[in-house]
Amino acid sequence: MRFASTRSHASAGLDEALVKGIADDGGLFVPVELPTFSVTEFDDAHTIPEIAAILLRPFFSDSSLIDDLEAILAETFSFPIPLTALPVANGKASLLELYHGPTAAFKDIGAGFLAACLTRLEGDPAAPLTILVATSGDTGGAVAAAFNERPGMRVVVLFPDGRVSARQEHQLTCWSDNVLSLSVAGAFDDCQALVKAALADSELCERYRFSSANSINIGRLLPQSTYYADASLRHFRETGNKPGFVIPTGNLGNALACIMAREMGLPIGPIVLATNANKTIPEYFDTLQWLPRASVRTLASAMDVGDPSNMERLRSMVGEADVLRDRLGVFSVEDEQIEAGIRRDFAEFGFATCPHTAIATQTWRQLGEEAQRNTDWILVATAHPAKFETIVEPLIGTTVPLPDDLSAILSRPSRSIPIDPQLENLAAALERYFG
Ligand SMILES: *Cc1c(COP(=O)(O)O)cnc(C)c1O
Repeated sequence: MRFASTRSHASAGLDEALVKGIADDGGLFVPVELPTFSVTEFDDAHTIPEIAAILLRPFFSDSSLIDDLEAILAETFSFPIPLTALPVANGKASLLELYHGPTAAFKDIGAGFLAACLTRLEGDPAAPLTILVATSGDTGGAVAAAFNERPGMRVVVLFPDGRVSARQEHQLTCWSDNVLSLSVAGAFDDCQALVKAALADSELCERYRFSSANSINIGRLLPQSTYYADASLRHFRETGNKPGFVIPTGNLGNALACIMAREMGLPIGPIVLATNANKTIPEYFDTLQWLPRASVRTLASAMDVGDPSNMERLRSMVGEADVLRDRLGVFSVEDEQIEAGIRRDFAEFGFATCPHTAIATQTWRQLGEEAQRNTDWILVATAHPAKFETIVEPLIGTTVPLPDDLSAILSRPSRSIPIDPQLENLAAALERYFG
């Protein structure tokens, strides 16, 4: 399959799209056409890797990785993705738990798949590929964990000093020698500007073979479609009903993967995008005007996005707001409602939810009784509450036990190098660390 840029007629094969991340014209890669499936084509597939192998094979048709697809999927899905029924009074609802990976958030799945692909395509111990990643908290940990100790691969994580939580910082700084963690004296935007400056410096690019594992790489989107395929098939086989999904949405990657799965013929009913106080998407649906803006800080910080980059993909693949608003629901949830949601989830479901997941449960509550009865809803849980314990624990009045993988990470020694946000300091740190 070819992948076209959203901005011109340029296109690339999968391998090139994976390595480049972004098209030469600055556009995002989108599949030139989506394959379609009937439900019966999955009759012999019962696990996520089996379902994913069928769903993703057409995208790999001219990739050099085609014979490795099963192995890549086995590496990606080395942990469970449970669908847990919720005790609700009205209709049926369940929780899709995407947070059982190494860093306890759904980004582990996309990062793991991309790492498995890039290592096979480019991993050369004699000339390692260096992945640069600027992070405001969650992405960097998932990328570092996914590339940790992979032969021929290095990662440089840049995070804003003092602006990530203690547990997040640990997840950014506890890896092996192939991961360099830089604590940048500045804000997230300074980290991002440094990555851009490094990628634009031809001498550094040649010396370190830079690549960026940013959230718009098609290699992070494709594997995310597979858990929607799996969950919808599981539910449809059991009940004959197409489930609806409520998806906490920031940069729109996770929700776009669900929309793609539905377009490909999976048994998926309504899709509802749930944002925090960053309302660029709800206002676009409302006013038909796309007005990206600076983000505002909320309790669901991984969704603090004012200019969701995957909207460019969604508009190119599906259409503009007048089309989109007929096919998608959208709600936004303010911070007070996030707090109320965390309390209610704990009281009504008997377990804690993270602030992002509480946006999904509160959105489901806002849907009203009729919508709750007419559709079986799957609420998407994007992170483990123990990652956001400073917000969650005071609200529920008790501690949240750490999942095993997270407590293993937190017990590893942590190290990072402080730098000022100029390119020469990044270059000096690279020289000292990697030579
Ligand atoms: C990244 C993230 C989101 C938002 O996902 P997008 O794909 O950016 O829409 C939601 N919740 C958590 C915990 C995240 O880390």
